[in-house]
Amino acid sequence: MTDATLTSWIDVPAGHDFPLANLPFGIFSNPRGGARPGMRLGDHVVDLSACHALGFLDGVEVNAEVLVAPVLNPLMKLGKPVTVALRERVQTLFHSDCAELRDRSDAHASCLVAMDDVQMHMPVEVGDYTDFYSSEDHARNVGKMFRDPDNALLPNWKHMPVGYHGRASSIVVSGTPIRRPMGQTRPDPDAAPVFGPSRLLDFELEMAFITFEGKPMGERISTAEAEDHIFGLVLFNDWSARDIQKWEYVPLGPFLGKNFGSSISPWVVTLEALDHLRVAGPNQDPAVLDYLTYEGDSHYNVPLEVEIVPEGQGAGQVVCRSNFRHMYWNMRQQLAHHTVNGCNLRAGDMMASGTISGPEKGSFGSMLEISWRGTEPVDMPDGSARKFIQDGDTVVMRAPYFGEVRGKLLPA
Ligand code: CA
Repeated sequence: MTDATLTSWIDVPAGHDFPLANLPFGIFSNPRGGARPGMRLGDHVVDLSACHALGFLDGVEVNAEVLVAPVLNPLMKLGKPVTVALRERVQTLFHSDCAELRDRSDAHASCLVAMDDVQMHMPVEVGDYTDFYSSEDHARNVGKMFRDPDNALLPNWKHMPVGYHGRASSIVVSGTPIRRPMGQTRPDPDAAPVFGPSRLLDFELEMAFITFEGKPMGERISTAEAEDHIFGLVLFNDWSARDIQKWEYVPLGPFLGKNFGSSISPWVVTLEALDHLRVAGPNQDPAVLDYLTYEGDSHYNVPLEVEIVPEGQGAGQVVCRSNFRHMYWNMRQQLAHHTVNGCNLRAGDMMASGTISGPEKGSFGSMLEISWRGTEPVDMPDGSARKFIQDGDTVVMRAPYFGEVRGKLLPA
C-alpha cells in the first residue's frame, strides 16, 4: 500500500520521506536507553522494545532480547516472515482507524520518541560487504575514460553482474566524518610512485541491500528465491580515492583506494515498502545464462540526488540527479550470481549496487564522471569550483523514502 491509502493518527506531512507506508528499521539511542531497534514514522521513532513491553506487539513472534539488541542482526535472524509481520503490526497499530495505542495516551511517551532527541547508529553489524558494478552508463563512462572509447565495456560485463569483495569494518553511519586517506600513487607515469594524501577524492552514489541468512554453504539462491533473502536497502556512499585506485588496482582490483570508508543512511527501507516503485529493467542483450533470467518487474524507481556543501555553507550545489532504475543488473540477479558457486550469505551482509549513473550529463554518480576526469570543473555557489571533493566538503545523498546519508571530508 502507498502513502495515499495509509494514514496515521501521528501527524506525518504529505511528501514526508517516512510515511506510514514506509516504516523502515534502524538502531537509535536516546537519554532513556541505549542503542536498540526502532522504526521511523514521520518525525518520530517507534520504540519497539517499549511497544513489546506494553503488549502492543502480541501475536508477533519476537522476543524481548532482539528488541534491545544494539544491531538489527538478531531480529533479522528470525527471518523474513517475522520482520514482515512486525512491520505490518506496527503499521496497523499506528493506522488512523486503530484505537489500541491511539487512545492510550499514557503509553505515547514511551512508545514514541521525537527524532530531535535520538542519535542514530549503524543498523547492522556488517559481516561481509560486496560491491557490484551494475550500472551500464557508469561502466561505459569509466571504460571510455580509462580504456577504449569504442570498446568501453569489458567482454564479461553483459554476461554477469561483476563485483568484488570489499571491507566491512569501515562502513559507517551517516554523520560520521571521513578522513582523506594517505596512500601510494603515481601522478607522473614516467616517474617513481610517491606517498601522500590522496588528491583525487571522490564519492560514489550507490544503494546497498542487506541480506537475511542465506542457505547453507554449497547451495545456491535462484532469482525466484532472491527476494526472500533481502531485508531492505540503504543509501550508500562508497568514498573512493581515484589516484590510489588507479595505481593499485591491476590485477586484483580495488583495495586501499576504497576501504578507508563507506557511509550509509541509518534507516533500512524494507523491500516490501518499495513494492509500489517496481519498474521493468532494460532489455538484456545478449541473452543472459539461465540462472540469471528472472520474471516480473525487479528494478525500482527511486530518484537519487547528490549535493556538495562546502565548509561553513548552509547549502551547496546539487551535482547529480540519478535514479536507482538505471541499473542493468537487478538485485535478484546479483544475489543469484553471488551464490551460484555455493557461497553462503549471513544476516547483515551488505551488497552495494556500484555507482548509479544515468544516461545523460547531470545524472552521473561520481565526480570522476561529472568532471570527466577533472576536465570539466563544477561551479559551487560560493564561487569555488570542484573537480573532486575538497577538505571540509560535506557530501549529502538523498532519496524519497530513504532520507539522507551525509559525511564530511576531514583533512588527511
Ligand atoms: Ca563502489
